[in-house]
Amino acid sequence: MSQSLNFHVTRSDRPRSAEERARILEKPGFGVHFTDHMVAVRWDKDGGWHDAEVRPYGPIALDPAAAVLHYGQEIFEGIKAYRHADGSVWTFRPDANGRRLQRSAARLALPQLPVEVFVESLKQMIAVDKDWVSDAEEASLYFRPFMIGDEAFLGVRGAHQASYYVIASPAGPYFAKGVAPVAIWLSTDFARAAKGGTGAAKCGGNYAASLLPQQQAQAQGCSQVLFLDPVEGRYLEELGGMNVFLVYGKRNTLVTPALSGSILEGITRESILQLARDRGMTVEERQVTIDEWKQGVASGDITEVFACGTAAVITPIGQLKGEGFSVGDLEAPAGEVTLSLRRELTDIQYGRLPDRHGWMLRLDA
Ligand SMILES: *Cc1c(COP(=O)(O)O)cnc(C)c1O
Repeated sequence: MSQSLNFHVTRSDRPRSAEERARILEKPGFGVHFTDHMVAVRWDKDGGWHDAEVRPYGPIALDPAAAVLHYGQEIFEGIKAYRHADGSVWTFRPDANGRRLQRSAARLALPQLPVEVFVESLKQMIAVDKDWVSDAEEASLYFRPFMIGDEAFLGVRGAHQASYYVIASPAGPYFAKGVAPVAIWLSTDFARAAKGGTGAAKCGGNYAASLLPQQQAQAQGCSQVLFLDPVEGRYLEELGGMNVFLVYGKRNTLVTPALSGSILEGITRESILQLARDRGMTVEERQVTIDEWKQGVASGDITEVFACGTAAVITPIGQLKGEGFSVGDLEAPAGEVTLSLRRELTDIQYGRLPDRHGWMLRLDA
């Protein structure tokens, strides 16, 4: 099977002016504005991947019987482009995202996009929309690659037609006023995923199921939800869209829940584990109970807690709240380990530190 496709490029005849783009990049928010172009690639059961194109950003026409609209056959990725000081544009570990998209596809009975085509799709976006990658401090261009089953058929089986798209949205610094700890809500009414389910796949359905618990968290003054394992309701899994870490300061140890089949394999998670090992920290991937968190914070053994994912990189967790309890101090500043891991990772991504693991790929050359 051919691993590469030729992209047919149709430039927008109404791209935003330089002034309009500058106005958007000054205050981009997150996921609100989109660049002038998108990538689309078609797949069907007989012909495989074909008709790769870059075209003006705009609505997608779907048959009302398209599989994605009825059975939620959708997967996605999240990956950023970073502008370095010399003006070049880079991305972080795209092959890892490409392989994860393939694993998600397998679980959702969608076709495997070759990793080479995934990486090429990001390069194609930068070839037309490079000017949307801001050079402001901690700004980036967030790519949202996604795939849908779009065969018009109401029978319940994997669609025989699918489409892969990439759209891109400029993102400002996640923490506009410095990295600030957040409060999170322990959900005991709901689980995110179960072993054998779709928790390890990056699919829209997982997010749909997390919206109600997320609303409950917000009603409690928390910005995110923490989910426990669905069987015993004791073991930490992750937040709605971020993995979680505990820091045992005195033991120089970093602890995160082991991948259980229901936890999403975050690329930020894996990168942080590597950076921690590199600096001589002890790294433990194992089961962690919610009692260990509560008692560890109370005894002072757990000195920091943080969440991680591509969008926010690392978010310090100041407080954990749940039905009838609260641990931690939201007013305390972010911890040292949290901040220095965050700094090291972003320094690599923005080209301020050597890329000793070969994680960075240039997109504009
Ligand atoms: C995307 C995602 C993460 C973080 O993954 P990264 O590769 O680090 O961005 C964590 N949990 C869930 C549920 C996710 O969807």
